[in-house]
Amino acid sequence: MAKGRIVKALSGFYYVQTEDDTLYACKGRGVFRNKKITPLVGDLVTFDIISEDEGYITTVSERKNELVRPPIVNVDKALIVSSITEPKFSAQLLDRFLVVVESKGIEPMLVLSKKDLATEKEIETIERYKAQYEKIGYKVVYFSLEEPVDSTLLQFLKEDITVIMGQTGVGKSTILNAIEPSFQIETGEISKSLGRGRHTTRHVELHEINGGLVADTPGFSSIDFAHIEAEQLGDYFIDIKEQAKYCRFRSCLHLNEPQCQVKKAVEEKIIFKERYKHYKLFLQEILSRKPRY
Ligand code: ZN
Repeated sequence: MAKGRIVKALSGFYYVQTEDDTLYACKGRGVFRNKKITPLVGDLVTFDIISEDEGYITTVSERKNELVRPPIVNVDKALIVSSITEPKFSAQLLDRFLVVVESKGIEPMLVLSKKDLATEKEIETIERYKAQYEKIGYKVVYFSLEEPVDSTLLQFLKEDITVIMGQTGVGKSTILNAIEPSFQIETGEISKSLGRGRHTTRHVELHEINGGLVADTPGFSSIDFAHIEAEQLGDYFIDIKEQAKYCRFRSCLHLNEPQCQVKKAVEEKIIFKERYKHYKLFLQEILSRKPRY
């Protein structure tokens, strides 16, 4: 019996990588179907070796977390990429990503890309945001094609499983290619190797980049809060969570409740006004969605 991690799932095979870097194409035993367990990329598994590169998965370890789009489990970290320009920086979108990441217990790093294309005025604005998010407690780095990759970013990727998030066009693949030139990210483009015309490859794969594993499928094109309840939202804004401890009511949604420390902290500029605005916006989205039965 051997142990490893599923780094790719394709055409009914799970590719399991062992600690000594051997790759085994594995099938799941029938027992999984009965237990309704579908092995997913990121899973730590035990398997029986049946030949030098084939095996049968026998058990799947308990998961730390699970993402749906792309389907990947045990994610430790996320690079959230926002471009300074083209497309223009959106703090609202960034906060959306942060809420999702925080709700899954994933450690984020914020990357502000396309610094080389930004105007002086855009840099000025983004500097303010950078300072803001750093004050909240996040790691923030710049990415520019004209400068070497930030060492903090390289350090961040050194171990664990990282996903990369950000809207289309922010330069996610450019960043990964700058770190690991041999790496060619597939962004849901037409699969040339399979030659299936318009068919896109939607499989997820973990690649070794700078020592760690990075998921090459930058999904997350749609970000919804379907898994988040209204009372939980405040926990996923780490600056709001910090202040919410001192609200009079434990169930405080920080809207119109008396003695709300969050609202006070917004007035006192301890919490940034824009963050609170996004909190209220997301809360409305959650409150107005159809109830689930
Ligand atoms: Zn409150």
